[in-house]
Amino acid sequence: MEKLEMLLTQRTVSFASVPRTEDEIFAFKRKNNGPHRLSRPFPGFHHCPFLGLIGGLKKRVGCLLHPSVPGNNGVDYRSLSWYGEQACRNYFCPSTHKISSVFKLILIQSIDNWYTFGLIVTEYALLTAYFKEIESRLGRQVVVSDYVNNIKAANALNEFAKLKANWPYRRDDCPGPCNFFFENGLYSRPDFFHTPPGGWPTSYKEIFRELDSEFSSEKDLVEGCRLLDNLFVKTQRAIES
Ligand code: SF4
Repeated sequence: MEKLEMLLTQRTVSFASVPRTEDEIFAFKRKNNGPHRLSRPFPGFHHCPFLGLIGGLKKRVGCLLHPSVPGNNGVDYRSLSWYGEQACRNYFCPSTHKISSVFKLILIQSIDNWYTFGLIVTEYALLTAYFKEIESRLGRQVVVSDYVNNIKAANALNEFAKLKANWPYRRDDCPGPCNFFFENGLYSRPDFFHTPPGGWPTSYKEIFRELDSEFSSEKDLVEGCRLLDNLFVKTQRAIES
């Protein structure tokens, strides 16, 4: 996260002094295109050089070409991006409509840093499996107050979300913690063939798949189940206490 934050900070500072002309913005784009796209986890995924830090404190990840960024003077420069102004303005990732407003609110209010938030928020299948498991344990639907103003439940959710970056059972050929969330089948996650041994919830299979897991032994699989179980028990206790 620190490395990424440094990159975004440098980029934001550097863009602040770019004269707002087409030539200068394109020059900035060329300079910030980064390593060759084929060396990235998803070669078919465009990494936008205009992603930076926005807001008064420059702590929020956002678009440097947006009209509300100081220096842009209300002008929308997104027409100069790879995707073009229309796509940048109108496209919303699948989580926007696939995750319920209750779960989105819980994430917004509970996840404590932008990096973890960014990693987990696009994972609608993983989040659906997570909340389904919580609801099955509670015997009712999750509501916002289960997590908001409930520090223990929020901490447990953060711990779960951080598995995206720290998951110890990620398959060797996995592209890393990132998620190719476009629904065009270009980089689908492989099926997960193991079934949790008896006594463990079958929903863990979905979670393992979405965490890009591979277990080299039955013992590791049980350890993976135990890890999830501890987190779910912790969350259930926090909500019910
Ligand atoms: S909105 Fe468009 S130009 Fe802005 S960061 Fe996203 S992809 Fe880049």
